[in-house]
Amino acid sequence: MPKAQETILEIDLNALKHNFEYLKSKVSKNTKVLAVVKAFAYGSDANTIANYLQDLNIDYFAVAYTSEGVALRNAGIKTPIMVLHPQAVNFKTLIDRCLEPCLYSAKVLNEFMASAQDQKQSNYPVHVKFNTGLNRLGFWENDVEYIVQRLKATNAVKVKSIFSHLAASEDLSEREFTINQIKTFKGIAESFSRQIGYQPLLHMCNTSGILNYPEAHFDMVRTGIGLYGFGNSKEEDKNLIPIATLKSIISQIHLIEKGESVGYNRAFISERTTRTATIPIGHADGIGRQYGKGKGFVTINNKQAQIIGNVCMDMIMVDITDIDCKEGDEVIVFGKQPSATEFSKSANTISYEIITAISQRVKRCFIGN
Ligand SMILES: *Cc1c(COP(=O)(O)O)cnc(C)c1O
Repeated sequence: MPKAQETILEIDLNALKHNFEYLKSKVSKNTKVLAVVKAFAYGSDANTIANYLQDLNIDYFAVAYTSEGVALRNAGIKTPIMVLHPQAVNFKTLIDRCLEPCLYSAKVLNEFMASAQDQKQSNYPVHVKFNTGLNRLGFWENDVEYIVQRLKATNAVKVKSIFSHLAASEDLSEREFTINQIKTFKGIAESFSRQIGYQPLLHMCNTSGILNYPEAHFDMVRTGIGLYGFGNSKEEDKNLIPIATLKSIISQIHLIEKGESVGYNRAFISERTTRTATIPIGHADGIGRQYGKGKGFVTINNKQAQIIGNVCMDMIMVDITDIDCKEGDEVIVFGKQPSATEFSKSANTISYEIITAISQRVKRCFIGN
């Protein structure tokens, strides 16, 4: 692996393949796998990741917003793409680009059916989302009759799948709640299929659902964080490989006398003669201010260097008093070791947040294939 010469996010495609194969091994042959590639494929690079997974014959993609689906189509993705959270203003574009909306409310259902009719569509594939306990987006169990009655009014759309989303699939102390969500979904699926007169695909599991609730795999599973190398538990983290490594270099080293300050608002005051390294990565790159003032750390020559003072827009300063290093040396923020999970703990957050926060200013580089 070449040493970083500037701040980069290195994406390991072999690790992606490993994670995909591991997750696939957890579901039966007949269960389809949908890759969630929203938010730039969790901060990595949606176009490259989706093209790579398309070559591995992934069954489906999902994004959050229509614009993300359009970007994938522009990048040559032919695989079906579900838009999890569409808005009416984008329905025309969505249909033009053969993206498949998730319909989660009466308003969205009616607006989409009108739009599909306007554009002279028949049997346009849609996905109906049910709320079974997350209380975020989705129809309720007792909406089934209404939805079916509306859908039967035209042939503009056809329900390709019905689905729900688990609220606490990674938290085994909420097992009872999750089992109840699965039970509610089964009831909805049964009455929906009976009333509509055909059998849409059923899906419910995200990554932790795949790993913890095999009885809820149904016809398809939706994996995001697992593909990127996180299992939301110590045991499962061992089976997956983080695909992204955030690297930088030491721009400059300073020797600071006892009592001197470092950075904006003099947030760090040295208690001893301190060697500091300035690194070209800041809050505009995704390392938020909550990592400053001794909370977060970077890794230089296998040793942890505390972030001192306030995180600046384009830089952080770290304490290297006890680390043998020089200007130009490589710096690891997170990657395989320490992982984004470990790094993000220092700011009381989770892997999902830090990996999706890495801004587009940071160059993406790819290794493996
Ligand atoms: C983001 C998302 C997922 C992916 O969840 P992971 O925990 O990253 O696997 C699955 N389903 C829905 C509806 C989502 O919004």
